[in-house]
Amino acid sequence: MAYDLQLSNVYKTYDNGTPAVIDFNIDVNKGEFIAFLGPSGCGKSTTLRMISGFETVTSGDLMIRGKRVNDQLPEKRPTSMIFQNYALFPHMNVRQNVRFGLEVKNMPRAEADGKVDQILEKLGLSDIAEMPTSRLSGGQRQRIALARSLVVEPDILLLDEPLGALDANLRKSIQNELKLLQRDLGITFVFVTHAQSEALALSDRIVVMNAGKVEQISPPRELYTQPRSQFVARFIGSNTILPGTVKGAKDGIVILDTAFGPLAGANRGQSDANVGREMSIVLPAEAVDLVPADVDEAEMRASFGSNTIPCTVESLQIVGHIMHMVVRFSDGQTINIEGHVDKYRNRIKAGGSAFVAWRSASATVIDH
Ligand code: ADP
Ligand code: MG
Repeated sequence: MAYDLQLSNVYKTYDNGTPAVIDFNIDVNKGEFIAFLGPSGCGKSTTLRMISGFETVTSGDLMIRGKRVNDQLPEKRPTSMIFQNYALFPHMNVRQNVRFGLEVKNMPRAEADGKVDQILEKLGLSDIAEMPTSRLSGGQRQRIALARSLVVEPDILLLDEPLGALDANLRKSIQNELKLLQRDLGITFVFVTHAQSEALALSDRIVVMNAGKVEQISPPRELYTQPRSQFVARFIGSNTILPGTVKGAKDGIVILDTAFGPLAGANRGQSDANVGREMSIVLPAEAVDLVPADVDEAEMRASFGSNTIPCTVESLQIVGHIMHMVVRFSDGQTINIEGHVDKYRNRIKAGGSAFVAWRSASATVIDH
């Protein structure tokens, strides 16, 4: 398998001693849409700049299409970068801005003009080609930046928070356009964002970063339903975290002793889930069943084992076909649950008692 991009044990320490990226490892397939997601300062842009060549790699190997490029100049790499503020030249018109991408690569004028026309056409910019960029809207400027970086026909497009400057509606529509464009071109996208909705909507895989380290690399759905660390469980989706001590394990299911009795979740690669270890069960909101208090207890046990926690229903609200509920445990923590009205109507009442229940395989056990 030939990868488009590989980072092996990549570290970056800035001259002032700041360790910005710590042991980054990933193999990216051709045509993959990868998102780097994490809070401000976690090392996303630094990693992107190392891939582009605008920043040096302190140690480790950076490979593009099987070739080590640590020491290759940015303009020699088959990458192209879009910056958060687009970095357009206000005194140049649209066409000149787009052509600039090729001038950097020293392409002969006639050949360059042909390519510029093509990409302007593709991105619907032909009509405004002669307008100065300073007169254009945020969405148009975004598209010009995209055209400028695509005109060089890169193998890998690097995007550093490219939608950050746009309002919510525009962001949504450009998101869709980006995804379509990426599929159409079939090139690899590496997309930096601190917005989980963006990463979840766009990418094939998400790299969650925290303080320079990679916390988890997973497809969106898996990241959402199977977080592997405390950080990811708190940062992504809507999870309830239940701490406890390992009591036993069987067939990939770990049972913890918790404040709510024995509770279980799946072990997804924790090699040290030994008896006595302090761990937590991560329960995604999607995995929760709310069971009315008058249910037959034997029946409930048959479905959920010991994974039941008594709760009171604080509030419920029906929006369309979905019932939104907030329930409270005896220790005061609340969780949000939603489900189809047909399942819960007439069975769950505001102010009433119920059980939060789940199947062991739909929760995950992680280190505390
Ligand atoms: P992100 O893009 O995730 O917000 P950055 O990659 O920009 O994070 O920054 C990662 C860390 O490196 C931060 O602590 C930041 O302050 C630091 N940093 C970024 N650029 C430089 C630089 N040129 N010199 C020194 N430290 C830097
Ligand atoms: Mg950044």
